[in-house]
Amino acid sequence: MEVELKETIDELESLKQSLTDPSYRYPIDKLKLRVERLAKFGNSGPLRRSKVKDMSAEVVDSNPYSRLMALQRMGIVQNYERIREYSVAIVGIGGVGSVAAEMLTRCGIGRLLLYDYDKVELANMNRLFFRPEQVGMTKTDAAVQTLSDINPDVVLESYTLNITTVQGFETFMSSLKNKSFSPNKQGSGVDIVLSCVDNYEARMAVNQACNELNQTWMESGVSEDAVSGHIQLLIPGETACFACAPPLVVASGVDERTLKREGVCAASLPTTMGVVAGLLVQNTLKYLLEFGQVSPYLGYNSLKDYFPTMEMKPNPQCSNAACLQRQKEYLLAKPARDAAAKAKMEAEASSSAEGPLHLDNEWDISVVDDDEPEGIDIKSSAALPEGLTRELPSADEFHTTPEAPDSAIDDIEDLRRQLDALNSS
Ligand SMILES: [Zn+2]
Repeated sequence: MEVELKETIDELESLKQSLTDPSYRYPIDKLKLRVERLAKFGNSGPLRRSKVKDMSAEVVDSNPYSRLMALQRMGIVQNYERIREYSVAIVGIGGVGSVAAEMLTRCGIGRLLLYDYDKVELANMNRLFFRPEQVGMTKTDAAVQTLSDINPDVVLESYTLNITTVQGFETFMSSLKNKSFSPNKQGSGVDIVLSCVDNYEARMAVNQACNELNQTWMESGVSEDAVSGHIQLLIPGETACFACAPPLVVASGVDERTLKREGVCAASLPTTMGVVAGLLVQNTLKYLLEFGQVSPYLGYNSLKDYFPTMEMKPNPQCSNAACLQRQKEYLLAKPARDAAAKAKMEAEASSSAEGPLHLDNEWDISVVDDDEPEGIDIKSSAALPEGLTRELPSADEFHTTPEAPDSAIDDIEDLRRQLDALNSS
């Protein structure tokens, strides 16, 4: 580009010299000046903002974080600036991973670790994020180029590797363990791993790494026909891991590459990929900044606009040894967890202005609505958008019961002991 502009300037100059009539020289000089300006602009590179030391809530047009910090004023997030302390690893910088990386970058995440072995192709242009001029670049390099321009505050680490190879897996593990960004952090060096890969072999590799490191991760996927997807939260020992209930292709040991047919590729839509990336990052923000409810599993069926949710407990016969070890640890830590939950509940009860319904609950019994799916706010479905009124009065109001803590449900043993004591007296 730079060379071409210089050649154009030289050609204009020789054209000017060759003219016999000096009256034609003025428009050529004007043209030459314009090309010189263009060359100068090209050399100065794209306009980039400088790094921002502290996130400010000041409402001015030049503040890149004012709209995010407003989440505090609105009472959604207690301390938004904590986002700068967090590290997120994204495995697979494709249709979902690249968009998730952009969202987290725009949200001001502290550090992003990006993993992919592929290159940008023209066939990727039906999705978001990558641009035609990036064709041929590795996806990780192209992502770093775009993301560092959008937000220079984010620390970006790019790993061009395949995590399903022995060497790739080792580098993946050591990069997750690296704590140089936050030396005092408990556990591994990252706060969450997001799996945005398109094959089961890579998911099993992420699963293996996270089970070994006791690392919480989120899985995402979009169906081959491009019209449905899902996200899933995986906490080693607490929820099912990817090997606890493996898909048939994994359980049967078939090499999934042999399932691919020549000339046939999976369909993909930027819409479905964008929705799944949005759900994934929304759940990640809720998990990191501790607001709302983090869905253990959230599906998306675009044909019916249906969002199923569910929970999956770990499989005691899981084929993954590290998963079994994490399950054992989780069970051993149950008394401490229950005590902490009880203490938290008591602290909340004492700080709450409203007293309990029955002060003398000697059986320690609480009512739990089993039908209420986690993560869904029933009240919101009854609310109408502004400006709309109901034709008929809403006669049936739901009388919701206050939520019972998990420990109350779990403590069947305790209840049984109390009943036994009563029977024997
Ligand atoms: Zn498992």
